[in-house]
Amino acid sequence: MKWKEAILTLKPYQPGKSIQDVKKQYGLEHITKLASNENPFGCSPEVQEAVAAVGDSFALYPDGYAAKLRTGVADHLNVKETQLIFGNGSDELIQIISRSLLSPGTNTVMATPTFPQYRHNAVIEGAEVREVPLVAGSHDLAGMLDAIDQNTAVVWLCTPNNPSGKYINNRELAGFLDNVPNDVLVVLDEAYYEYVEAADHPDTISWLNNYPNLIVLRTFSKIYGLASLRVGYGAAGEDIIQKLEPAREPFNVNTLGQVAALAAISDQAFVEKAKKANREGLNQYYDFCREEGLDYYESQGNFILIDFKVDSNLVFQFLLERGYIVRSGSQLGFPTSVRVTVGSKEQNAGIIELMKEFLKVNRQQRVEL
Ligand SMILES: *Cc1c(COP(=O)(O)O)cnc(C)c1O
Repeated sequence: MKWKEAILTLKPYQPGKSIQDVKKQYGLEHITKLASNENPFGCSPEVQEAVAAVGDSFALYPDGYAAKLRTGVADHLNVKETQLIFGNGSDELIQIISRSLLSPGTNTVMATPTFPQYRHNAVIEGAEVREVPLVAGSHDLAGMLDAIDQNTAVVWLCTPNNPSGKYINNRELAGFLDNVPNDVLVVLDEAYYEYVEAADHPDTISWLNNYPNLIVLRTFSKIYGLASLRVGYGAAGEDIIQKLEPAREPFNVNTLGQVAALAAISDQAFVEKAKKANREGLNQYYDFCREEGLDYYESQGNFILIDFKVDSNLVFQFLLERGYIVRSGSQLGFPTSVRVTVGSKEQNAGIIELMKEFLKVNRQQRVEL
């Protein structure tokens, strides 16, 4: 068959281990998954109520315009409703942007390591991928500017960056945007925006008026705790939204997702609580890393990348057999680190005890890299 050549080079997404599989394989009763940056506190209780009230209207298509959710998000962000596009997760928005702008003959610029879906979608569209290595976990914005040429269609900035947790501050972002050509779309993937505490973090939504080539992506999957329902959104100037809309499937965001997301964004007290608990959780990991002399990046997200200076799969396997699922850095471009999602206080304490045990057992095997 006449497959696109690029398709033949790609592998399907490898999901993290499922809780059921791990229970069975290792005969464990309790498994704690700290692998996908999900919210350990679930979602707002108001979501349960709102979803229950949907009743059994499952035979009907969802509202293809997501009108109520649109109003809720527009009010929350203080943008016009016509400045928003909704996706089946922000993953789908990455796909829509790629379909709309990338093709053979174009190129796209991104950091590495970063969120893998930018590259994946660009390859499917046949675009050239230009990856600029992170420097100390941060985007090399000067290097990315250098990589842009007249064939560049999209630049991806992930901030805070998954998996390093580092963010781009006001001054750095302004310096970058002021130097990107106007006909290059800059995508700011802010999946962890609501977790950020840094005082010099840009309020990017208020920048949309100044930068007509900017789109900000956010999601209900992380702090809002709705990963299973698949809702994300993009905010940009009306012109960008109008151009992207035809590439969106008409009924891409399901009814339960729309209802749940609206309830979730209305409960900012829940968000504040999750944010505060996350900060305390990060401090548990920082204390542990300092005590043990481990390198880590200060994180503005709900995850932390810790360098054990051994093959990351050894750490991963040690924790897995004892009931904790994390992400091995070998799959993320950091072969001696693991990425741990910040859990509840008890979950963090539990995994930290095991990581201490791992260090005791493996101290001898540690290699200098
Ligand atoms: C989790 C994540 C997403 C995907 O979010 P969905 O809305 O669930 O598709 C996008 N970008 C980054 C950087 C993420 O970590």
